[in-house]
Amino acid sequence: MAHIYLSSPHMSAEGYEQEFIKEAFDTNWIAPLGKNVNEFEKELAAYTGAKDAAALSAGTAAIHLALKAAGVKEGDVVFCQDLTFSATANPITYEKAIPVFIDSDLETWNMSPDALERAFEKYPNVKAVLPVHLYGLPANMERIMEICRRHGVPVIEDAAESLGTYYHGQHTGTFGDYGVFSFNGNKIITTSGGGMLVCNLEEEKAKERTGKVRFWATQAREPARHYEHKEIGYNYRMSNIVAGIGRGQLKVLEQRVAQKRKIFAYYQEHLGDLAGISFMPMHEGERANCWLSVIQIAPDSPVRPLDVMIALEKGDAESRPVWKPMHLQPVFAKCDYIDNGNVGAGLFRQGVCLPSDTKMTEEELERICGIIRGLWG
Ligand SMILES: *Cc1c(COP(=O)(O)O)cnc(C)c1O
Repeated sequence: MAHIYLSSPHMSAEGYEQEFIKEAFDTNWIAPLGKNVNEFEKELAAYTGAKDAAALSAGTAAIHLALKAAGVKEGDVVFCQDLTFSATANPITYEKAIPVFIDSDLETWNMSPDALERAFEKYPNVKAVLPVHLYGLPANMERIMEICRRHGVPVIEDAAESLGTYYHGQHTGTFGDYGVFSFNGNKIITTSGGGMLVCNLEEEKAKERTGKVRFWATQAREPARHYEHKEIGYNYRMSNIVAGIGRGQLKVLEQRVAQKRKIFAYYQEHLGDLAGISFMPMHEGERANCWLSVIQIAPDSPVRPLDVMIALEKGDAESRPVWKPMHLQPVFAKCDYIDNGNVGAGLFRQGVCLPSDTKMTEEELERICGIIRGLWG
C-alpha cells in the first residue's frame, strides 16, 4: 500500500522539465539568469493575461516586493485576509507595516467585501489590500476591486494557490495592481521552490514596476561598472535551472487543473451523502483549480475533523486542517481584526483538506472514501 500525499510534485510524463534544464546545462546558463527565466516570465504572463511578470525565489518574496512596489512603508496599514497561510501576512511585517486582518465570507471562503467596507471606515488611510484565493477558490474580486478602486488603494492578490483559476473569464492574480504566484513543492505546479510577481497596470507602468522588482531582487545594484547601491536590495531572483522546471510544468498545468477538479468531483460524488459533510463553494462563471479538496463537517456531527485526519493517517494518507486564521496566531495577537461573524475561525475548526495528489489512482481515491465512510458507520 503506497503512501498517499496531500499534494506532491508531479513532473510531466513527457520529461519537458528535463529538456529545459538540459538546455541550461548545455549553454552553461546555470546561474543566475538566462533564457529560461526570461521565457518563463513571458509564458506565465501570456497564460494568465498579466501585463508583465518577474520570476523570484519564492511566493513570499513576491508578496514582499509587491508591497514595496505598491509603496507600503513603515507604520502603514495593510488589510490582509485573515484566513490564510502565514506567508501572506509575514512580508507586511518585513516592511514594518501593520497588518489588519479581514474575515472571510461563506460564499467564497475568502476576504469578505462587507468586512472590507467596515475596515475602510475604521482605517481610511490604508495603503494596500491583500486578498487571497484560498485552495484555488476565487475571492469576490468584483466587489473587492470596486471597493478598493473607489478608495484609490492598490490591491495585491495572493494567487499562490490559484494558478489555473478563472473568475468571470479572467485569471486570478490579474485583477489587482499586482498578483503573486508560488511554485513551492506542494502547489499545483512546482519548480521545487519559486514565485512570480505579475503586474497588471497599463503596459508602460507595468514594465517599469516589474523592472524595479527585478532590481530590488538582485541586491538593488545600480547600473554602473562598479558595485553601486542607493537602496537596500534582496537576493530574491529565480535561477535559470528552477525556471526551466517551471517552463516544463506550465505545459502540463491545464492537465493538472483537470486532474485536481476530477479529484474534487470524485469526493463530492462519493462522500456527498454523509450527514453533516459539505464541500468548498463553487460558483457559476468560475473555474477553481481545486488545488486542495476541502470539506466541512457540521459541528453537530458525531464525527470530528480530527477523527477524519487520524483515520486517514492510519490508512497512510495525508490530510491537514484548514489554515488557522492569522488573528488567532500568537505572533499576530496584537493586530486588529475586522470580523464577519468569525467565518474563518469556523472554517478552520470544521475543515479538513483531503488528499489531493494528482498522482492518485482511482483505487486510492476509493480507499480514501472507504476510510472516511467507515467513520460514519
Ligand atoms: C504557498 C503560499 C505562499 C508562499 O509561497 P512560497 O513560494 O512558499 O513562498 C503564500 N501565500 C499562500 C496562500 C500560500 O499558500
